[in-house]
Amino acid sequence: MSADPRLLPDDLRARYRDLLARWVALPSVAAEGRAQDQTAEAVATELRALGLDVAVHATAGAPVVFAERRVPGAPTVLFYNHYDVQPADPVELWTSDPFELAERDGKLFGRGATDDKGQLASRVVALEWLKRRHGGALPVGVVFVVEGEEEVGSPNMGAYVDAHRERLQADACVWEFGGVDAHDRPQLICGLKGIVSIDLTVRTGAYDQHSGLGPVVPNAAWRMAAAVASLRDAEGRALVDGFYDRVRPATDAEAAYVANAPREDDVVAANVGVERFLGGATGAEWHRRLQLEPVINVNGIHSGYGGPGMKTVLPVAAMAKLDVRLVPDQDPHEILGLIRAHLDRHGFGDVASTLAERPEHPSRVDPTHPWVRHAAAALEEAYGTPAVVTVSSGGSGPLHPFADVLGLPVVMIGVGHAQGRAHAPDENVRWVDVERGTYATVRLIERWAGVEPQG
Ligand SMILES: [Zn+2]
Repeated sequence: MSADPRLLPDDLRARYRDLLARWVALPSVAAEGRAQDQTAEAVATELRALGLDVAVHATAGAPVVFAERRVPGAPTVLFYNHYDVQPADPVELWTSDPFELAERDGKLFGRGATDDKGQLASRVVALEWLKRRHGGALPVGVVFVVEGEEEVGSPNMGAYVDAHRERLQADACVWEFGGVDAHDRPQLICGLKGIVSIDLTVRTGAYDQHSGLGPVVPNAAWRMAAAVASLRDAEGRALVDGFYDRVRPATDAEAAYVANAPREDDVVAANVGVERFLGGATGAEWHRRLQLEPVINVNGIHSGYGGPGMKTVLPVAAMAKLDVRLVPDQDPHEILGLIRAHLDRHGFGDVASTLAERPEHPSRVDPTHPWVRHAAAALEEAYGTPAVVTVSSGGSGPLHPFADVLGLPVVMIGVGHAQGRAHAPDENVRWVDVERGTYATVRLIERWAGVEPQG
């Protein structure tokens, strides 16, 4: 009998490792369309073993694993996760095989160890633990939606939720990721930004020209540089008319969480090697920008010659890839239209703008919702330190269909940590976070459903 009730029982620890080892071995890289059916089946098998009714639903892309078990008279929690992963490249920078789980220094390494197979394994183990604590049966209803295209922008999740609205009815939702911040404090995230990816392209003539003609012949690289530079100022503020018009003011509760957020810019500056953040932002202002401000990003600019030595050429074509991170209530299609109007008004009618991917809407959950408060209390119980409530992540995901279409309160908690290297070589999850994060999930459900363990 263990003294600390938060410790994962030994057999569930072994179960976690075994689940993760089997899933990591399946190279379900969404961008390459690999091992999708096989991984969906592997996930379905484990959810069936939990006693859930499972169906693998076809979509226009990778299949979605759907599972449910309703409990009469009890509320239902929906878990959103994904079984796909990012490519393993560059493979040579991994210390061990990305598709073979390895254990070193209290961590488990492998592609998907944290994003998102390690999180999904924690949800499964949490439910097994819950059953054990409640006489062998789940004390709440459970629904799982495990998709296979999150890493390529969840292009079919909106349509999936629309089509299965009835079966997805639930009372609350646990999102696919979460964990501790750079100071190892438990983090509770309540929102995600929207995203619209835009390709800008320009052609200035029939073919590349000798640069001796530079005084008279237009140059596509200059055109693109000027068009991109017109979009925002040096401190990161967008210069597009109307861009900020629909930005919803923070509620008092949101503003208070941002204002009181513990300082993180110092650690992040050191981690990412930056001396000064945009706008000179530090402390609460750094959090405010990150959580509440929309932004126009340049992901890449390509034109002309970039090789060794010289090539005196006037490039005829240039392209730039942008992503715009949106906050409520900005609309992706309207933002695309505003950027188009801006380019036209500033004399860049020749610079074409097209959507590169299906956009995602921004979404935020009210941090004063009881589900969020129970999550904060469960985290404090599991970690022994108060949760840091984050109004919005800087990142994006298909939160809108779940939070706004299904109307679910959503919390983002889990087993990740700041050096978990999601999307990078040596992706990992720490045992200490698996222990605490899994226990926090168990306690969130018990607190929320008002059930305490038997015996
Ligand atoms: Zn990811």
